[in-house]
Amino acid sequence: MKITFDYHIHSTYSKNKHGKSTIEEIIQRAIEIGLKEIAITDHGPRHFLYGMRADKIEEAKNEIIRLRQVYPQIKILFGVESNIISFDGDTDISAELFETFDIILCGYHLGAMYSSFKDFWGFIILNYFGKFNKRLRDHMTKKNTDAVVKALNKYKIKILTHPGDKMPVDIKRIAEAAEKNKTILEISNHHDHLNAEEIKIASNYDVSFVISSDAHSKENIGGFEKALNEAKKAGLDLNRIINLTKGE
Ligand SMILES: [Zn+2]
Ligand SMILES: [Zn+2]
Repeated sequence: MKITFDYHIHSTYSKNKHGKSTIEEIIQRAIEIGLKEIAITDHGPRHFLYGMRADKIEEAKNEIIRLRQVYPQIKILFGVESNIISFDGDTDISAELFETFDIILCGYHLGAMYSSFKDFWGFIILNYFGKFNKRLRDHMTKKNTDAVVKALNKYKIKILTHPGDKMPVDIKRIAEAAEKNKTILEISNHHDHLNAEEIKIASNYDVSFVISSDAHSKENIGGFEKALNEAKKAGLDLNRIINLTKGE
């Protein structure tokens, strides 16, 4: 088994050396391992530590346009991993920025600059204390899930990245919203979500899955073993993983 494309890769356009490889190094590696298609997806600009600088987005896009000429044997998408920044489901990609990208991913991250202090308080502080208090955790699980569902309803998100990572969510309701919006659910090779149990729950809905390496350096591009293992453990019909193929 192998994957044919990898739609979740971070490059040096992330701040603070979050992505270690340049876009060109990523492309060369992807060609070397036989991928047909990749998406460069650095964090949206409101990720405090690792986001793309807003004034570099155009430059990154132009770099990809240039490299498409140099490496015509592979399809290269310019994407973004947008951040959920409020309980109303807002993300850091404005309507106008949306048009800039070929593909939009979205995920929840700890280092985002949230919309308001109230959002920060809920996402960071209350979720933290929820670890020690079941009532609070249940309450926050509902609120967190509402935020993700609202984001899926509000934006055209192609892939929801690592649902369940960094904050508890109700996978059932997320899968339901993904089905409604035709959002693909990611099985991350980098993070621990979706895990087997969550894949099993989500598979009860009419949703597709994608395996992503979420590579932060070129060596990890195309990685899929850990994710595939979770999918197998969940008993998922592997045909539902859109980028998995039989063969060497
Ligand atoms: Zn992420
Ligand atoms: Zn990522």
